[in-house]
Amino acid sequence: MSDFQSETFSDELLGFSIPSRDSRGRAVRLGPVLEDVLSAHEYPSALKHCLAEALVLVTLMGGLLKGEGDQLTMQAQGEGGAVSLLVCDYRDGHIRGYVEHDEVAMAAEGANPTLESLFGKAHLAITFDIAKTGKRYQGIVPLEGASLSRAVESYFAQSEQIPTLIRTAIRSGPGRTVAGGLLVQYLPEGEEGRERLHVELDPPEWEHISILAESLRHEELVEPALSLEEIVWRLYHEEEKVLISPGARLAKGCRCTAEHFEDVLSRFPKEDRRDMANEEGIILVDCAFCSRVFPIQD
Ligand SMILES: [Zn+2]
Repeated sequence: MSDFQSETFSDELLGFSIPSRDSRGRAVRLGPVLEDVLSAHEYPSALKHCLAEALVLVTLMGGLLKGEGDQLTMQAQGEGGAVSLLVCDYRDGHIRGYVEHDEVAMAAEGANPTLESLFGKAHLAITFDIAKTGKRYQGIVPLEGASLSRAVESYFAQSEQIPTLIRTAIRSGPGRTVAGGLLVQYLPEGEEGRERLHVELDPPEWEHISILAESLRHEELVEPALSLEEIVWRLYHEEEKVLISPGARLAKGCRCTAEHFEDVLSRFPKEDRRDMANEEGIILVDCAFCSRVFPIQD
């Protein structure tokens, strides 16, 4: 690999499907957009890494959504660890996320804390909000395993009965973090199929597709000289047919507005609001996602 600092990374989301194997996938690479989200906070490097992985995961899952305004939210809530909350979401190519943590507890963690030591006893909630029908699908699984990616794989296996393989890679250097990911899954009933309860977990088609996906090296996901299309081609060029479709344009997207915070504050009792206000009667509220500060007149 060439000099990391001078390499050009683009933000990219790619969809693909392999009809003869009833499989589909998403590939993602986050460059400038990741820096944009991470730079709103000063996180220790272990948390940057964790949030970067979470943003790759929401983009991979969000890339499965089809309708305008559909939203994917991933939330990890912990107890007894350094991190109490991690929230990320995806809507129409816009991603955002943040982590709530205890600085003292975090400082005691080494450079490579385990998921368990970061979150303690925790669970992971994944929510699909479908704009057109107003329907919400939510699955909750224990936050266990070696990484967030493994926990999301168990979410698909347990809550949706969809065999899924996920790979993520994060590369960071001074002042720079880039990330990439691949998700492949087996949908024998077709993408719109509802009856998935009888899916065998290891059908030969899936075994074939997942073994090929496993041959992907982590470095390839964050190697800018290799496009996402080339990655998919490298893995699946021997298949009868691979359909490729570009995903949404990715950007950092926060939906915070002064109106939203006014509405939230209006639900607090008058005395509490007075305590929060400064001498000029203004309450300063900052958005947890993007750190923008909103002065709200009490
Ligand atoms: Zn915001």
